[in-house]
Amino acid sequence: MNPRKTALVTGASRGIGRAIAQRLAEEFFVVGTATTDTGAATISDALGENGTGIAMRIDDQASVDSAYERMADRFDMPSVVVNNAGITRDNLLLRMKAEEWLSVVDTNLNGLYRIVKPALRSMIKSRWGRLVNVSSVVAQMGNPGQSNYVASKAGIEGFTRALAQEVASRNITVNAIAPGFIETDMTAELSAAQVEQMLARIPLNRMGTPSEVAHAVAFLVSEQASYITGVTLSVNGGLHMS
Ligand code: NAD
Repeated sequence: MNPRKTALVTGASRGIGRAIAQRLAEEFFVVGTATTDTGAATISDALGENGTGIAMRIDDQASVDSAYERMADRFDMPSVVVNNAGITRDNLLLRMKAEEWLSVVDTNLNGLYRIVKPALRSMIKSRWGRLVNVSSVVAQMGNPGQSNYVASKAGIEGFTRALAQEVASRNITVNAIAPGFIETDMTAELSAAQVEQMLARIPLNRMGTPSEVAHAVAFLVSEQASYITGVTLSVNGGLHMS
């Protein structure tokens, strides 16, 4: 059995999730999820002896169940869960197809329910746990064309506060991270004009890096953050201050 605690990071194949998995692998045995076996193998290669990749889709209950079964057989159940996987399907509401609304809510919000519930059982048993849910600055600011995404992320922040109160007595903390404008595939889709417009609104005058988000997550899951629960920590260069 691995002497390190196990940390599950969803969506660890690229972007912010990959940086979180790499940072947490300095202290935990990391199980990083990808949507394909090839993605899972890449995660295993990157983490070496400090972790492994597994294939799992958070919008598919059977896939989540089977991933947890494999995890329980081969490693410990996670003491740390970072819910990072998420998608966007942007459109103005009047043009938004039902599929665009439903897929974003089913992945970003219902996925949280699917992932957290099984992990919580084992955290409660061991009376220690850390949950970090990745929200977004737009949950508080709003953003035209993202009503589906913003609704799902605001839901994640509400979920974080409610669950934090449910499990605090078991020494489990539940927090959220709200990144601003971070250099990943998700933001690479934006036009040069959109990027310029966004940068003009950021006091630190640059995009953030996945590693800057990863360090904030590493703090929230650390022993040093044991008296912090139910909060949403902004990592946004000052784009939104609340
Ligand atoms: P990304 O698109 O680069 O990566 C998303 C990850 O989620 C990928 O690993 C992908 O495989 C995984 N994923 C997608 N659908 C999945 C599903 N159904 N099941 C399992 N995994 C799935 O995105 P990113 O920019 O690294 O974003 C990571 C998180 O940070 C997301 O929750 C996103 O909403 C949030 N976020 C990103 C930014 C930003 O500027 N990039 C800002 C705020 C919040």
